Amino acid sequence: MPIIRRLPQSLINKIAAGEVIERPASVVKELMENSVDAGASRIDVYVEGGGVGLVRVVDNGSGIAAEDLPLAVASHATSKLGEADDLFRVRTLGFRGEALASIGEVSRLLVRSRTPGATGGFEIAVHGGTPSEVVPCGCPVGTTVEVRDLFFNTPVRRKFLRSPQTELGHTSEAFVRVALASPQIHCSLWHNDRPLFELPGNLDWLQRIERIFGRELADSLIPVESEDGPVRISGYVAHPSQSRSNNRMQYLFLNGRCIRDRSLQHALGEAYRGLLLSGRYPIAILSLKVPADWVDVNVHPTKLEVRFQDSGRLYSQLLAALRSRFLATDLTTRVAARVEAAGEASVPGPHDPAAAQRAKQQLVEWAKGQLASCGAGSGSATETGVPWPLADQGAAPPMPLEIIRLDGRRRSHPGHLAEISADAGAAENGPAPGNAPKPGPAFFAPPVIPVKALQVHNRYLVAESEDGVMVIDQHALHERILYERLRDRIASGAVESQSLLVPEPVDLSPAEAAAALENRDLLGRLGLKIEPFGGSTVLVVAYPAMLANVAPAEVLRGVVEQLVSGGKLPDRRDVLDDLLHMIACKAAIKAGDRLTPEEVAALVEQRHLVDEAHHCPHGRPAALVFSRDELDKHFKRI
Ligand code: ADP
Ligand code: MG
Repeated sequence: MPIIRRLPQSLINKIAAGEVIERPASVVKELMENSVDAGASRIDVYVEGGGVGLVRVVDNGSGIAAEDLPLAVASHATSKLGEADDLFRVRTLGFRGEALASIGEVSRLLVRSRTPGATGGFEIAVHGGTPSEVVPCGCPVGTTVEVRDLFFNTPVRRKFLRSPQTELGHTSEAFVRVALASPQIHCSLWHNDRPLFELPGNLDWLQRIERIFGRELADSLIPVESEDGPVRISGYVAHPSQSRSNNRMQYLFLNGRCIRDRSLQHALGEAYRGLLLSGRYPIAILSLKVPADWVDVNVHPTKLEVRFQDSGRLYSQLLAALRSRFLATDLTTRVAARVEAAGEASVPGPHDPAAAQRAKQQLVEWAKGQLASCGAGSGSATETGVPWPLADQGAAPPMPLEIIRLDGRRRSHPGHLAEISADAGAAENGPAPGNAPKPGPAFFAPPVIPVKALQVHNRYLVAESEDGVMVIDQHALHERILYERLRDRIASGAVESQSLLVPEPVDLSPAEAAAALENRDLLGRLGLKIEPFGGSTVLVVAYPAMLANVAPAEVLRGVVEQLVSGGKLPDRRDVLDDLLHMIACKAAIKAGDRLTPEEVAALVEQRHLVDEAHHCPHGRPAALVFSRDELDKHFKRI
């Protein structure tokens, strides 16, 4: 029969540490929360080695009396709960009395503290769970807690720690959560003597948000305010033009505590329904003030999740607040304005959208002439007299398409092209057979007249195949072409990279910045060169040339989203492949882009890259094939 034994205290503490202290970021969270509870108006956080080597949190709060120091580091000892009922109206961030004991169990902990009335300070050290005597020390009023060598005595835990860069990402995220929850407190974060954040306490919430996440995000925020009885919701949600591929940019602060709540996140998603593409998540930074006895915060060891007495009420209030806010805000015009602005923005580098647009227009004019000359070519004429694939050409796609530019073969065999265009252009331009054709606009190699392929609804290409008809998804095919090409180039180490004349700073979340910098080499192979730029801002120095149409910031964001999605670090090849798909997807023409006949032809030429077996990375088929037999059967020919 197994014998039941009481666990020794140190084992109890280790078990508690397992729940509460997962990584250096957990230490930062617990220590900063203690400082907030102590009424500090200033909290300075220093970390080394991402927090694995050292976490030091210095505050100017109430301090701990010498005689209380041993209790502070003992388990289940807290100054925050008086009687049992207090548990159901918690007003402090901590109350379990476990954090310092847990941390002391798995690290070398030093607590120095001085209360306002005392003439000097006192300190206590805990090494792997063994506390020292309390001895006097010199220190300012407040508390300094130092945690060194986290998990030095729990090798299994230590093995789970990631690189310093990744741990720093988590650590910064933990810092940001507390700093956002308490905007009135001056907070700073330092890493290896480098300042990452310096957030004065005299700024308002929006200014603090801007300091943390950058101007671009702050500019896109829409204020939200709602009061229903004692429940108050206030804060910001982002304009739908700003979204993320995961819900990590949804910060909810309940009575000053950062929480995750599925129901409230669902309400957010509902409010943005129809405003965001599927798979995109809104950005929100919201504060909820609810009477303390309406929530149970004692359901999760790190209190990340809480239980509401009436979560339905909060859900409806949040949803209603957002909906009425959106109704009162003209979201669409802002989207359009932004797109325009983005289009006009002078992307530093070789790409000049206006020039490309002009060149494209020239090409369109030229192609119209060609088509007219070969008797309406592939389509029947509309009332406007323009062959229908080109009708409504006035509204050219906002971004120039670069299929031809990317098609190396087309350029390297001008002889072949000359034949075709000489032939097609003969009627109008009248060069003698065999003569070199009149050159088209210098920007392009003379285009080919599309043969037996049509663009329909600006999204599908209908082409004749060996033994039937193929309906191709234009985006999926182009994506596939770019993917294959990029993969070949990576294999041969020849991805073209375009340096930016003026490197572009991009604001990321701390975790994203860490992930990006950690994968710098990998991104470099893709042609995306980045540098750290202080805080969680990353500088894009060069980007893949094939993404000339996409703003560098967007490229980096897309890449980073791939890097951080999934949480764990997948193996490098998978990441590379995901990134290739992402880049190909971003660079490819979209459904809805009107294509010129030349572009259609260039695409269809490579239709072998998509057949029934090929799917786009999202699992949709890229092409449908109807065999002649099938068609014959349908039309009752056989
Ligand atoms: P809890 O925060 O749940 O009470 P902790 O283990 O985090 O448990 O802290 C134990 C006690 O130590 C707290 O209740 C508080 O009295 C004291 N303490 C910890 N950190 C500080 C600090 N920075 N300033 C003042 N008192 C502190
Ligand atoms: Mg605590």
